[in-house]
Amino acid sequence: MIDAKKYIEEIDKKQDKLTSLSDEIWGYAETAFTEFQSVEALQKFFESEGFLVTPHAYGVETAFTAEYGSGTPRVGVLGEFDALSGLSQVSDLIEKKAVTEGASGHGCGHNLLGVGSAAAAQAIKKYLEDGHAGTVVYYGCPGEEGGSGKAFMARNGAFKDLDFALTWHPATVNQVCKDSSLANFQVLYEFKGISAHAAGCPEMGRSALDALEIMNVGTNFLREHMIDKARVHYAITDTGGYSPNVVQSEAKAIYLIRAPKVGQAAELYKRVDKIAEGAAIMTETTYSKQLIKSCANLVSNRVLEQALYEAMQEIGVPSYTEDAYERAEKYTATTPDGSGRVFDDLIDDHLIPENVEYLREKKHSRINDFIVPYETIHLVKCGGGSTDVGDASWMCPTAQINTATWAPQTPGHSWQVVSQGKSEIAHKGMLYAGKSIALAAIKMMEEPERIAKARKEYDEVMKDQEYIPIPEGIEPRPISAIK
Ligand SMILES: [Zn+2]
Ligand SMILES: [Zn+2]
Repeated sequence: MIDAKKYIEEIDKKQDKLTSLSDEIWGYAETAFTEFQSVEALQKFFESEGFLVTPHAYGVETAFTAEYGSGTPRVGVLGEFDALSGLSQVSDLIEKKAVTEGASGHGCGHNLLGVGSAAAAQAIKKYLEDGHAGTVVYYGCPGEEGGSGKAFMARNGAFKDLDFALTWHPATVNQVCKDSSLANFQVLYEFKGISAHAAGCPEMGRSALDALEIMNVGTNFLREHMIDKARVHYAITDTGGYSPNVVQSEAKAIYLIRAPKVGQAAELYKRVDKIAEGAAIMTETTYSKQLIKSCANLVSNRVLEQALYEAMQEIGVPSYTEDAYERAEKYTATTPDGSGRVFDDLIDDHLIPENVEYLREKKHSRINDFIVPYETIHLVKCGGGSTDVGDASWMCPTAQINTATWAPQTPGHSWQVVSQGKSEIAHKGMLYAGKSIALAAIKMMEEPERIAKARKEYDEVMKDQEYIPIPEGIEPRPISAIK
């Protein structure tokens, strides 16, 4: 057995370069499909490290791949780097304050995500340089937030040729992601009516805004009759103007329709379509729709999850300065609960008693500087949304981890995330994720039978399941271009 851990040291050696790259991307804070500077910085990094960089990969302008090695096994590491609009925030300040009001910010920690995965790819390259067979491919995946960049990449042929793919996401805890994520469809609904003076001749007008409001009301009644974990949300993007004395002839909303399985989301999408149609009939307006993007639910792979869990344990969680603990406590105090509680409910008869005891002890940690036992991961309230990692997971066996990059209870997509994006805990969590992914990948590459086992599990789960790709002709668009 080789000493896989020695390749991980590569990440420690390059940690200054890695953390400053992540900080640089934090500063760019570019939203979906406009990540030009972030991509340039990452590509430069990979070129300087001797990877073969392919820009505009799989027909997506801000996607790229960085590859090293040859032949099999072919291992993918997925990275993201897009930010969220409206979340500008001063770094390291423990109160909400924008750098530039209305500007974007890294509210999901993707500055860390992209670079943590790059760190992993770099360590795997070190292993390959030592004469081991195989290829590592870093996928620079743009537009995760509201864009499903990976779904477009998957439609255009990405990930299929991999033996397996690994990734991670910043979080408040260290754990393997065991749960699935929600599949979704994002759709722009547009109503068209007839404008008229709202007091002088309202009978001449047909209100598109009425239609949109009725559609939203209809959807809110639909909620009671959807499956439990389904979710529908909307943003009204065009109310038809600012004049109440005009019957609005146009109105638009973007709907996000989610459910645990792709097929269920597709069914729900059809029901929302019917509501739009009904609203148009009731108001004598017309409606049209545009599918913006869709993404698949995440298909888990227990073999890969186990490999990641073992790697996380072998590397061990980072240690922190007292300052980091004190600051984390202050961030936690800014959240609505403020108690730092990680687990809502530890009562589960099926759990191993030692694990329950362990979690009780850890329930109020100042930083969650421990690994959630694999068996108890379902107790952590984490995720609940969608990720386009789901689409990669339909193409090849895929798994991901979370590491603690933020104080306990930091909400996702919040100013607290942006503020902590360049902090000690963020940097350490990022490097820990990179090391864990690299170690798991190298160990898998050392054991071809384990790779075969992961594939077998994948094949079994995928039997009788059908992937629904984004239809041809629909291309990735920045949110600002959706009209
Ligand atoms: Zn997010
Ligand atoms: Zn994210």
